[in-house]
Amino acid sequence: MAAIVVHGGAGGWERKDVEDVKEVLKEAVLKGFDLLREGRPVDACEEAIKVLEDSGLFNAGRGSVRNSEGKVEMDASIMVSDGRAGAVGAVRGVRNPISLARKVMERTDHTLIVGEGAERLGCAEPIEGREGTGDTVGCVVTDGKIVVAGTSTGGVKGKAPGRVGDSAVIGSGTYASDLGGASATGDGDRIMKVCLSYFVVNLINLGLSPMKACLAGVDLLERRTGGRGGVIALNLKGEVGFAYNTRAMPVAYRNSGTERVLFSGLDVE
Ligand code: ASP
Repeated sequence: MAAIVVHGGAGGWERKDVEDVKEVLKEAVLKGFDLLREGRPVDACEEAIKVLEDSGLFNAGRGSVRNSEGKVEMDASIMVSDGRAGAVGAVRGVRNPISLARKVMERTDHTLIVGEGAERLGCAEPIEGREGTGDTVGCVVTDGKIVVAGTSTGGVKGKAPGRVGDSAVIGSGTYASDLGGASATGDGDRIMKVCLSYFVVNLINLGLSPMKACLAGVDLLERRTGGRGGVIALNLKGEVGFAYNTRAMPVAYRNSGTERVLFSGLDVE
């Protein structure tokens, strides 16, 4: 079954933003779902994330936070269930880091390229920034045959220049196998210590539902590292999962069985 799930980061939300956030998440889901129907799952994942990066509402693309020197440095990654993967770390002046990650996957022999080397792969239109109130963004899609997962972020506010987080690390921020995919968000320096997305996808491979796998992933993150964060996932059947231990984690999803886009994780006091 075709399915798509997106997240807008595990963190805190201002109540005033909720309607705007829902609208942008819905736009991302619908755009991705249309591309899935056209048989273009990699485009579906990339384009859904681009909608979120371009919105300026999230800590990704246009809305990225600044590091300790006031500069924007972004991370992103994408992985396809056939084993292809690409990622970029600490890139500056790039409008859509997720597209750059896809370029690493499709046009180089490498998996992760950071800084200037990645920027030189080129992705037109430098970014004109504004700090979003939201968080990292991510997406997982399946057309019932392959799974694609992606993640994009401005990282942690005030981070050291050159710091690269989980969103650029295949297995931590993003992972896809033949049977499922996941995208994580939250305290990346801790998420990397439990390889959160790989852990969740592995549980799906072993037969757990995506929901149970996500709950187990967040539990592991909290128990082993004390970290705060969240993760979304889906399996080849189009079943969706999400879990977080932060105040909120906006999630929107749709599969061929649901007529409309469904939301979760937006209930903030
Ligand atoms: N995981 C991201 C990072 O540590 C940040 C986030 O998801 O809020 O770079």
